[in-house]
Amino acid sequence: MAPAPTRILCPLLGPDLGTVREEMRLALARRADAVELRLDCLRPPPSPDELAPLLADCPLPVLVTCRHRDEGGQWTGTEDQRIALLRAAAPHAAWVDVEHRHAPDPPLDAPLVRSWHDFHTPDHARSAARAIDAAPAAVTKVAFAAPSPADALLAFDLLRDAPRPTIALAMGECGVMTRILARKFGAFATFASLQSGRESAPAQPTIDDLRSLYRWDAITQRTSVFGVIGCPVGHSMSPAIHNAAFGAAGLDAVYVPLLTPPTEADFRRLLDGLRERPWLGWRGLSVTIPHKEHALAYVGAENCDALARRIGAVNTITIDPDGSLHGDNTDYAAAIDALVGAMGLPREGLADRRVALLGAGGAARAILAALRHYGAEVTLYNRTLARAQQLVEEFGGTARPIDDAPATRAEIVINCTPLGMHPHVDASPLDPIPPSVRVVFDTIYNPIETRLLRTARAGGRLTVSGVEMFVNQAVLQFERWTRRRAPRDAMRDVVLRRLGT
Ligand code: NAP
Repeated sequence: MAPAPTRILCPLLGPDLGTVREEMRLALARRADAVELRLDCLRPPPSPDELAPLLADCPLPVLVTCRHRDEGGQWTGTEDQRIALLRAAAPHAAWVDVEHRHAPDPPLDAPLVRSWHDFHTPDHARSAARAIDAAPAAVTKVAFAAPSPADALLAFDLLRDAPRPTIALAMGECGVMTRILARKFGAFATFASLQSGRESAPAQPTIDDLRSLYRWDAITQRTSVFGVIGCPVGHSMSPAIHNAAFGAAGLDAVYVPLLTPPTEADFRRLLDGLRERPWLGWRGLSVTIPHKEHALAYVGAENCDALARRIGAVNTITIDPDGSLHGDNTDYAAAIDALVGAMGLPREGLADRRVALLGAGGAARAILAALRHYGAEVTLYNRTLARAQQLVEEFGGTARPIDDAPATRAEIVINCTPLGMHPHVDASPLDPIPPSVRVVFDTIYNPIETRLLRTARAGGRLTVSGVEMFVNQAVLQFERWTRRRAPRDAMRDVVLRRLGT
């Protein structure tokens, strides 16, 4: 018989029986498959007479847990009281979870989840899994801290080698993917909170995010995996936009966040780890700050498109089924197409047009390379003049201090500074708009209409929002990975909804 699909277990952390009953109803409404009743969180601890009806009334199967403080729980009573409480609950529970080193003898009258937690390191997780597998239990559970997503991959190794139903999770933001992909690797269960702020472990997703943002119900053993590597990635819209695109296109694929510490060594360790495990089905990565240069170095210039090489940064990695890698830079085309699309021009129409580019960071670098490629005359205005001078030496153009921008005689202004970005929405890099300017493109996408764009629109100029660039780069990534036309409208809708329009 095929094993049951991976369950979503919602921890119930209510401090009293009334709250727990309410949480049980909420878990059912949110389509949890089971709940975890944390007896150690109840104040005062329930009596055996209260436990039986509480468990009998629960509309979902219950995993009963009562964690010691040194197991990450809140139990303050004696060990004898704790075991007595678990014994009273066991006959009414679907499973009882006990920490491996505290497993009671004689055993409890319920299927046992024998668990092990390490909140500091992944180093002992493999030996712990072996020790637990050698002891009697229905389910092995191993949860460990992962300082990087490369460490978190161990959870998939444990699931793959598991001799019996197993839960293997990497705790913390670097391990979020293990909670989402648990279903792909046939885990016994994953844990998801009922709502934000009610997590029982660091970086546990909510059940709503798991089901709707991360496509839980669509994940199978064959699902292809994609993700975004960056630091930070917590507020990235990429998981929402790409998962919605996979759903709209009917593709068996999922996209997860990979918070990767900023060093090149961390980036390399993760990529090595993904490639050493072809069975993961990893097919592509978005790369964001600070790893775009690391990506170019890792993939190798000879395996990157000419523009990525010229810009010196890769924001898209494609992993072929044979493990070979390809690097692209979609920021460049995304920005140029947003601009020429709004102006009703082909890219070549940019030749000889005067452009004022504000800023000299990563975005300005890609856009300057593109504008110069199509023959535009660019003046780069930046707060740190030396940085602008460095860029024009590489790509051509003229460098000026940002204070000279109001005197520009350009036709097109492109803002690549964060001035005006949420939450500093009253800032603007240029006000008033100089008389020669006909088109204003702000690469900022939050807010959709910055103060710069509002001023430009009020003055009758053509305006282009960073949203178009953001959607374009995701569209280009999707098409590079899947070789199919991207569901652009669905992707733009996600961005607009997330930005609150
Ligand atoms: P970055 O590498 O940090 O560069 C920031 C640039 O802005 C630098 O030139 C910096 O000048 C300048 N700057 C920062 N604060 C300033 C201030 N208070 N006054 C004047 N200049 C200031 O950042 P980036 O990656 O290029 O991103 C820049 C912007 O592009 C972001 O705000 C983002 O909204 C936008 N972006 C949009 C997309 C999209 O898809 N729509 C994609 C990427 C980026 P110094 O050199 O003097 O420090």
